[in-house]
Parts: sequence; C-alpha cells; structure tokens
Amino acid sequence: MHRLIAASLLWAGAVSAAEVPCDNAIVTAEAESPELATRICAASDAALAHFASCALPEPKPVRILALNAFERECVGLFHCGEGLIEVLAPDAMEARRNLFGIFQHVPMERFFESVVLHEMSHAVFDGTPCAFAHCVASTEFFAYTQQIAALSDEDRAPIEALAQDMPARKDVLNVFVLYMAPDKFALEAWTYLNAEPDRCTFWQEMLTGEVHFDRALPR
Ligand SMILES: [Zn+2]
Repeated sequence: MHRLIAASLLWAGAVSAAEVPCDNAIVTAEAESPELATRICAASDAALAHFASCALPEPKPVRILALNAFERECVGLFHCGEGLIEVLAPDAMEARRNLFGIFQHVPMERFFESVVLHEMSHAVFDGTPCAFAHCVASTEFFAYTQQIAALSDEDRAPIEALAQDMPARKDVLNVFVLYMAPDKFALEAWTYLNAEPDRCTFWQEMLTGEVHFDRALPR
C-alpha cells in the first residue's frame, strides 16, 4: 500500500511522490515513484539481512529519501541523530559515476543497493559511544567495510585485486586520508579488516566503542 504525500512538503531537490513503509518496519522509503520506493525497501531488506548475518543490531527507524540532485559531491548521505538517509535516485547516480571510485565497475542496480547499505551502516553505527569530538573515521571504516563485504564475489574481486599487496596499517585510517583520498581509505579499511581473525567480532567491538579509528585532536 502506498501513501501519497505532497511533494511541496519536501525540501528542495526532492521530487518524492511515494512514501512506502517497508515491510521490515524499520525503513520508510520516499521516492518519485512507487517502483523506486519499493526498490529501496528491497535494498534495505538485503542490508538488514547482511547485518543480521553477523548478529549486528538493527538501526533505529530511518527514512530513506531518493533525490534527483545533491548539493554535495556524494551519492548518499546519512543525517546522524535525525533518522534520515538521502540517496541519489539511480539515474542521477549513474550520471555521477565518476564519484563511484573503487566501486565504478559495479552495475548501477547493485551499486544503488550498496549505497543504501553503506548509509544504513551509518544508521547502525549512530549512537556508538565516541570519546572524541567526532568518530568520523570509525563510522566510515564501519560503513565502507560493510559495503565491500556485502558485494557479490564478482563485484568484490576488482576491489580485492586493488588491495592485494597492501599491508594492514592503522595509522592511515584517519579522517585526513578519508577526506583527501576516500578510495584509499576504503581499501585500507578493507585490508585492515581482513587481517582480523573474525570480522563479525571486529564489527561488534566497533559498535560498543571498544575498537575505533578516531583520536583526540591536537590542542
Ligand atoms: Zn559514509
């Protein structure tokens, strides 16, 4: 069942006409067509199943809104503390394939799903204890490694090839590398995770704040 809402209620850039409460009772999808909203629900189901496969907690209820434009140079955005995710609609996302980085070989349909999963990973991470001014490096480590892990073997293979001879290093997993070279950060994160004996345990320890990649800023 679709509940129609007025586009005028939404902010600039939004062209939502369909609001669909997903059957998983966690996600509400908003998009310009019921078809796209249903697609977001399916992507959110897959993401929840992926989190459950490692016994990770579900996120709090979250709205996922598909937009045709972003002011920022990105394809997805999680608004922490607001229960809101914005993603570019697939057509708009395809037009920004130059931003896909290490995921550029992934076909649009699956890349869209993986962006939904990346942003939902931030929603899972939201509320994790953070002893510093922010825990951006940690939440991005968590989201990128979830995103890469959830790819099909075929889609992950070129990423594995890029990371092949990289040593696991913690010092480069910081916010500066994240902002300057997000692809490098994602590859380093994946390499670091793979050196861990059990990735599910590692992710669980990240969510308790036991393991993190942030540090106090110099005063
Ligand atoms: Zn992210």
